[in-house]
Amino acid sequence: MRIEVINTGTELLLGTTLNTHGAWFGQALFKLGLRVQRQVTVPDGDAIGEEIKTAIERSDAILLTGGLGPTSDDITREIVAEILERELIVDEHALRTIEYFFASRGYEMADSNRKQALLPVGAEIMPNPNGTAPGVYVPPRIGKGCALFLLPGPPRELHPMFDNEVAPRLTALVGGAVPQEHKELKFTGIGESDFHQGVDEELNNVPDLEYGYCARPGEVDCRLIGSELAVAEGEKILKQTFGEYCFSDDGKTMAQVVIDLFEEDGHTLAIAESCTGGFVASRLTDEAGASAAFDQSVVTYSNASKTALLGVPAELIEEHGSVSPEVAVAMAEGALELSNDDFGIAITGIAGPGGSTEDKPVGTVFIALAQYDHPTYVVRRYHRRSRKDFKFVVSQEALDMARRRMLEFPDLQDKF
Ligand code: AMP
Ligand code: MG
Repeated sequence: MRIEVINTGTELLLGTTLNTHGAWFGQALFKLGLRVQRQVTVPDGDAIGEEIKTAIERSDAILLTGGLGPTSDDITREIVAEILERELIVDEHALRTIEYFFASRGYEMADSNRKQALLPVGAEIMPNPNGTAPGVYVPPRIGKGCALFLLPGPPRELHPMFDNEVAPRLTALVGGAVPQEHKELKFTGIGESDFHQGVDEELNNVPDLEYGYCARPGEVDCRLIGSELAVAEGEKILKQTFGEYCFSDDGKTMAQVVIDLFEEDGHTLAIAESCTGGFVASRLTDEAGASAAFDQSVVTYSNASKTALLGVPAELIEEHGSVSPEVAVAMAEGALELSNDDFGIAITGIAGPGGSTEDKPVGTVFIALAQYDHPTYVVRRYHRRSRKDFKFVVSQEALDMARRRMLEFPDLQDKF
């Protein structure tokens, strides 16, 4: 079934309102075994009609959003009636519902709201319990073979209308599409190009498997879509090749994965952060149940605080600099010693744009992992990125270090 989405609204193109419908429809339709083939955004006005005229020729269903309000730029109903060569008539029930919407709130209804009860002959009203604009369903027999769904713009009105009115009609039209299996595996520590070289050919050979990648800072997500069998086969190939880099196969975040692993084994974590300013702790505490694994964190941004709060000797900082493997190790061991935890993570680096030295350019960072009764491990990394991305990528590496240790994968080596 070919489904297209047409979003209307000048505000969406000016960028004053973020168009969230695309992502929402994509996910909602996928659950029904359907896909959006094309999505466009057009300003209020004539462009709406032009877009409908071309989309209606090649689609089985169009989801049209916005322009159902009472103001002069809300003209979707009128445009659709004209294209279908159908008269607009007042739906008495819809009109009374709109009148009641106002009366029950103690407001007087403006005359302009009357037009929201207009309906092309042969179309059906889709009730809107969350606003004044009812939706309109144009069945394929009067929509030139294409079903049209006219939907309100505000997400809190559109979402329930989709679930209650659109989804059942689409399902009936398509005669019960079989929802496909969809799995997302998240990887860290390897890049997109590694996948191209490592698994693309093998994945290509799996019958009926659709796969794709989405690279983001510190992470590559691999999407598998197809039959249960095909997705399972794709997952096997990915895990056989890159198993230790795959931190999630069920939607869990890195922070949640680390918390779960610590909780399972009864370990707790202390953190000492410099350049990431508490971001690792923040990511952990974004997750419910963090207290099972996360004990404490200190942000020691200045040299003096590294000495005062973590016991890092001032001479050590003097000798090696605050961004050094020696100081990272001392911070991690300090965090461990000052707590009752059995794991300590420390981060010290140069986020930039200033602060570089000859042998330590901006982007240099040291991450240390101290574990009770184990030698402390420290790794040097280099990320030349915006401060925000730098903090995310470094926090990802720090958390991944803990994850790898828990799962007994070998510690990663310096990359430069
Ligand atoms: P309308 O139905 O055209 O009167 O839309 C009214 C309101 O819905 C707008 O002011 C936006 O706040 C919201 N809206 C419309 N389209 C979108 C969209 N694509 N994504 C998110 N919000 C939207
Ligand atoms: Mg609008």
